[in-house]
Amino acid sequence: MTEQEWVPAGVDPTVPSVARMYDYLLDGKDNFAADRAAAAHIMQLSPNAKEIAQANRAFLGRAVHAVAESGIRQFLDLGTGLPTQENVHQVAARVSPGSRVVYVDNDPIVLVHARALLAENADTIVVEADMREPKAVLGHPEITGHLDFGQPLAVLMLAVLHFIPDDDVVEGLVRGVREVLPSGSYLIISHVTVGELEGDVVGEGREVYSRTSAGNLTPRTREQVAGFFEGLELMEPGLVSTTEWRAEVLDPSLAGPGGADILCGVGRVP
Ligand code: SAH
Repeated sequence: MTEQEWVPAGVDPTVPSVARMYDYLLDGKDNFAADRAAAAHIMQLSPNAKEIAQANRAFLGRAVHAVAESGIRQFLDLGTGLPTQENVHQVAARVSPGSRVVYVDNDPIVLVHARALLAENADTIVVEADMREPKAVLGHPEITGHLDFGQPLAVLMLAVLHFIPDDDVVEGLVRGVREVLPSGSYLIISHVTVGELEGDVVGEGREVYSRTSAGNLTPRTREQVAGFFEGLELMEPGLVSTTEWRAEVLDPSLAGPGGADILCGVGRVP
């Protein structure tokens, strides 16, 4: 593997970034040696790590497609990650050209790549904000300027809430998002769970993530993830593994025995 030569200002390539680790798990090319080493360690602990990353990304595509077909034309993607295949605006535009998308992340490398590749038209913008400051996100002038909170929209928080360790902060964020969503909007969430991993393996995995840009990985229980959708109407098939959400082909290898899992759901605001 060759080391990427271009390192944007403000980026320390020796500290693994969760965005670049995820890019590596998705077979992307925007990652450095430190990211690959950390991701390889995670793959030793949870051999299905690549499969669940890919299943999560595939869920993103199916969920965006489903809500776009329900009439949603505005998307707020919190914790965007590096550009890859089938980004939100591309999936949405296939159903509804002209859909408006805001991508939000707090990792400088994501912002550099996203500004270059995701904001390719006037309907799509990229905003730097930290989800641990929900008021700053929801009140961000570029977000409120680009999206009409008087009309239904979809908010995505995929594979990101587990990088916020404090339950109160996560619950406050989810509550804050729900408070600003008009009826007919959707909340799309996916979240790492321990799955079938043993406690010591989870501990070692968390140790790996403690040395990353995010500083932690906080798996949550099925009950905790279900709590994010309280009061919302869950689209079929409910709260399930990302491998199972409207997958056309259920591939048992994706579930990966003995590994971690990512739970997901799409809730509609009544
Ligand atoms: N949502 C995408 C990418 C997940 S990777 C997907 O599911 O395919 C997680 C992303 O969340 C990374 O890009 C990371 O930089 C971002 N992230 C982590 N903590 C964040 C925070 N506090 N605020 C904003 N973004 C955050």
